[in-house]
Amino acid sequence: MKILQIISLLTTLSSAGFFWVLEGLHPFFKPTVDRNTHAVSNFGMAACNLLILFPSMLLMASVLERTNVFWPGIKGSGIPAWMQTIAILTILDCWMYCWHRMNHEVTFFWRFHSIHHSDPIIDVTTAWRFHFMEILFSELLKLPVFILIGAGIEDILLYTILMTPVIAFHHSNVKIPDQIDKILRNVIPTPLLHRIHHSIIRKEHDTNYGSMLSLWDRIFRSFLLKNEIGSIKIGLSEESSINRQTISALLLKPFKT
Ligand SMILES: [Zn+2]
Ligand SMILES: [Zn+2]
Repeated sequence: MKILQIISLLTTLSSAGFFWVLEGLHPFFKPTVDRNTHAVSNFGMAACNLLILFPSMLLMASVLERTNVFWPGIKGSGIPAWMQTIAILTILDCWMYCWHRMNHEVTFFWRFHSIHHSDPIIDVTTAWRFHFMEILFSELLKLPVFILIGAGIEDILLYTILMTPVIAFHHSNVKIPDQIDKILRNVIPTPLLHRIHHSIIRKEHDTNYGSMLSLWDRIFRSFLLKNEIGSIKIGLSEESSINRQTISALLLKPFKT
C-alpha cells in the first residue's frame, strides 16, 4: 500500500506541475487574473481539505480492512482478480458521476459545490478548489459505497492515481487541437467538455459531470457538446467577483444566507 500512496502523491504533484507549465505556454483563454494569486487562493482551499482527507484515508483503510473480511463484495464473486479491479474502478467512477450530479441537483449540496464553480477562470488549480464541507460529505457518503462493493484501500488509491491526471487535464487552460479533444472525449471528459461544465449558464453547467470516464454523461443523458466555446463565460454571476475570491470569503460563503 505504501508504494501506491507514494505513486498517488507523485501523480498529483506531477499532474499539477505539468499542466501548470503547459497552460502557461499554450493558454486557451487569455488569463484575466494573476495566475499566481489565483493559484495561492485555490491551493489554500486544497490545504484546508487535507485536514479532512488524511484522517479520512486512515479511517477508511481501517474500516475497509475489517468489513472486507465478512463482506468481500465483488472480491467474493469468484471472477479473475483483474476483472474485479476493473469492475470496482468502473463502479467508483459511476459513483463519482452520481455524487457530482447530486451536488448540482440538491440545493443543500450546491451551496458547497458552488464554491468550485465560482472560480472566475478555469485552470489546473481549479481542480483542487473545493469547500471542506463538500469534501467531508463526499468522504462520508462514499464509505458505504466502498463497503458495499468490497473495495479495498488499494483500489481507492489506484482509482485516485488514474483519475487525478484526467481531472487536472480537463480543468487545465491548455489549448489543444480540436481533433485531439474529439478523439479523447470518446473516453474521458476533456477540457472542452469541462469548460462547458464551468459555464455561467445553468443549463450548460448542469451537464458533463464525468470525472474519469465520459461514458456516464452519455448513458445518463447529461452530455453536452458545443463546438465554439471561445466566448463562453466561466464562473457564477455575483459569486465570481474578484473581491469574493479570498480564502476566508470562500470558506464562509456557504454559511451565509
Ligand atoms: Zn460541478
Ligand atoms: Zn470542475
